[in-house]
Amino acid sequence: TDRVVVVGAGVAAAQCAVTLREGGWHGSLSLVGAEPHPPYDRPPLSKDVLLAKADRTTLDLDWKAFDVRLLTGRRATSLAPGLLGTDAGELPYDHLVIATGAAPIRLPGDSAARVLRTIDDSLALRAALRPGAHLVLVGAGWIGAETATAARRLDCRVTVLEAADAPLPGALPAELTAPMRRWYEQAGVELRLGARVDRIEPGAVHLADGELVPADEVVVGVGARPDTRWLVGSGVELDAGGAVLADSLLRTTLPGVWAVGDCVSYPSARYGERIWVQHWDHALHSGRAVAAALLGAEVPYDPVPYFWSEQFGRMVQYAGRHGAGDQPLWRGSPEDEQWSVLWLRDERPVAALTVDRPRDLAQARRLIDLGAAVDPALAADPALPLKSA
Ligand code: FAD
Repeated sequence: TDRVVVVGAGVAAAQCAVTLREGGWHGSLSLVGAEPHPPYDRPPLSKDVLLAKADRTTLDLDWKAFDVRLLTGRRATSLAPGLLGTDAGELPYDHLVIATGAAPIRLPGDSAARVLRTIDDSLALRAALRPGAHLVLVGAGWIGAETATAARRLDCRVTVLEAADAPLPGALPAELTAPMRRWYEQAGVELRLGARVDRIEPGAVHLADGELVPADEVVVGVGARPDTRWLVGSGVELDAGGAVLADSLLRTTLPGVWAVGDCVSYPSARYGERIWVQHWDHALHSGRAVAAALLGAEVPYDPVPYFWSEQFGRMVQYAGRHGAGDQPLWRGSPEDEQWSVLWLRDERPVAALTVDRPRDLAQARRLIDLGAAVDPALAADPALPLKSA
């Protein structure tokens, strides 16, 4: 009853394994990862790795010392109660943790384009980003903005094609992203909004209106989907978006099977809905939460979601989760270099977006976590710290 198999070898998997050992788990512990690499961090892949400030982002963990069997270059292909099928034979388990993350969404006819998800993707893109090369990025999301930033620093010509009428269309309302358009301009990036890509061929991107945009390199960054297709028919139920459907303890619908990180959705009591989070902080904490649960703690997993993005020389951070009915409150002006927005629901902050104001982020995150109310007049003054009313 003590064999733990973790499927996937990203940050969520690594945190789960390490936390189990640190918490005194004595049974056997295996990590099965499809990539040929030991667990590594992805956030630097669109930042320092592209800029050649780092070549590797391997987590500094001694797997031998942790007595963890690292089975890299091995892909899980099926799951039955007590038995994981892989492309190199079956592995029996008593407890299984699904940590297979997410895979980039591809566009129809985009085989000539790159994506940016793995260390190998990042190193290959870096080699292609020669000064003067024309990089066309499809999607003005987080990956698009960060890759554009790095490519400009490397003296590439950069065009970003975005189908929506503002950057970060899925994540933020247009009134907030309007000031961000200027960031592209100032960095010398051509941002084309309303540009719908029809197909991509070597050397060119075809737009739906018939225009042809020439390109030396094309990177598609239009989001990622839970990498869970291998679970179809296993008894592990998936939600409509393909994420593993977990309960508040991150248990799946198959007994003895848990899920963590980018591949799972869970019911958040805090937000009153099932949520799917694809950020580093969630990978870390959900991995730890399942380890704690396996060690006997029954604490619902429901932290305030958090992520950061480094784009155009700015640190952009977001905590919480806002909806259409929540009231945005500005701290500072979008014309300024630094500003924050707090979303209030009945005077209680539920989310915050900060641009180069890390202290606002830390204070807001605490208030959101506590469910504390603020005085809107005081909270709107960027010179005052954020505190509860
Ligand atoms: P993953 O990191 O996706 O790891 C899952 C692993 O499982 C992969 O190695 C995959 O190959 C493997 N796998 C998949 N299927 C199988 C299978 N069937 N069998 C075996 N193995 C399998 N977040 C932030 O908060 N801030 C940032 O600035 C930021 N920057 C990012 C930049 C980039 C370029 C990328 C790609 C992501 C970034 N993220 C950022 C998001 C963050 O990296 C992810 O949320 C995090 O990596 C999720 O961790 P995970 O362990 O759940 O999944």
